[in-house]
Amino acid sequence: MLQKVLIANRGEIALRVLRACKELGIKTVAVHSTADRDLMHVSLADESVCIGPAASAQSYLSIPAIIAAAEVTGADGIHPGYGFLAENADFAEQVEKSGFTFIGPTADVIRLMGDKVSAKDAMKKAGVPTVPGSDGPLPEDEEEALKIAREVGYPVIIKAAGGGGGRGMRVVHKEEDLIASAKLTRTEAGAAFGNPMVYLEKFLVNPRHVEIQVLADGQGNAIHLGDRDCSLQRRHQKVIEEAPAPLIDEEARRKVQAHCVQACIDIGYRGAGTFEFLYEDGHFYFIEMNTRVQVEHPVTEMVTGIDIVKEMLRIGGGEKLSIKQEDVVIRGHAIECRINAEDPRTFMPSPGKVKHFHAPGGNGVRVDSHLYDGYSVPPYYDSLIAKLITFGASRDEAMGRMRNALDELIVDGIKTNAPLHRDLTRDAGFCKGGVNIHYLEKKLGMDKH
Ligand code: ADP
Repeated sequence: MLQKVLIANRGEIALRVLRACKELGIKTVAVHSTADRDLMHVSLADESVCIGPAASAQSYLSIPAIIAAAEVTGADGIHPGYGFLAENADFAEQVEKSGFTFIGPTADVIRLMGDKVSAKDAMKKAGVPTVPGSDGPLPEDEEEALKIAREVGYPVIIKAAGGGGGRGMRVVHKEEDLIASAKLTRTEAGAAFGNPMVYLEKFLVNPRHVEIQVLADGQGNAIHLGDRDCSLQRRHQKVIEEAPAPLIDEEARRKVQAHCVQACIDIGYRGAGTFEFLYEDGHFYFIEMNTRVQVEHPVTEMVTGIDIVKEMLRIGGGEKLSIKQEDVVIRGHAIECRINAEDPRTFMPSPGKVKHFHAPGGNGVRVDSHLYDGYSVPPYYDSLIAKLITFGASRDEAMGRMRNALDELIVDGIKTNAPLHRDLTRDAGFCKGGVNIHYLEKKLGMDKH
């Protein structure tokens, strides 16, 4: 078992990891920038170390600063949370080389999944269904590229192998635009990701975003914890997530879940991970794997009763997975609203002092938040300030509890997107379930399709 874990993150996820460590009797080290001395988990941690100035490049993204903090505090494990260095293979490698446990997969696996071309290839080999497209990189030869696109059928999407965060993608509707678009995407990808390689996929017109949560111990054991629907997105950022995904073909679901488990075993996966899919007309198409804990993990915890972060810590400590697939039972329904410090109409960030924070409560309500009265949300980082999660025996019950919870929530002093959530949880289309990834942007009047 790990004795002392350094939490290489901030905000709600740092607090989430701290709570899990405390439950397991693991000592905690908080690291923070000069702008983050007042974070809730910093005051709750056994020890804390300031690792640099507000700019994340010099603090939360500084590998030497974080490893030095682990060294001086005598931590034995490092939990990266999400964002920052969570999917940085060099970080994982240096953590392990310095003699600490990286709570996540090995650097090799992060690297394999971080390159979208190699990830897709590995998934295909494991039998996971992928989006039809170029097998591997799109050839530079124009005739060959045109032939591939013709076979796949327009519209197609050209994607950077090294892309991420919704960047490095271009949709092509007509053959005459293909070559110019491929060239442009290559140039941009080279500049943005240091890797000009691109590949081509069929562009799915109205898919949903459905993902599968997995846990694996890197010792030959892997399970899935069911799925989540995260189709309500704005600019590729998830806004509301739920588990299980509503209205999914049962046969397709069972098959894809089994393939994900097999893929974990095939690639030697360790820790918590998520296989992301587009889902259209009853079919799943793999798009990428996230090799870390995700923001929306709580909805899966609510419907399975499994604490994903505690499992990550146990696996990090070298334990074998103690949960068997047949022990995983999906019960009821859970919904998560991401509460951001931002203007609900313009989406401009709204940092500043929280004069008063009141968290909702009651049956089936969970709030993951680092806010407290008098806390100042700094302007330097992600605007997520709270995750409101509700659970119910049915989707309707969970939705009703979410409406109540949103009505009870008070964040005074800064603007939040709670009004948007109040509106969405009363939206007839969303309440019916199964909306596609364009639904929210269409509703907001910003969809280009
Ligand atoms: P990133 O790593 O940048 O998030 P993804 O491969 O996960 O990139 O794709 C991000 C988003 O782009 C998807 O959620 C989806 O909205 C859109 N997208 C990606 N590939 C396709 C595709 N083949 N067809 C339609 N939409 C796509």
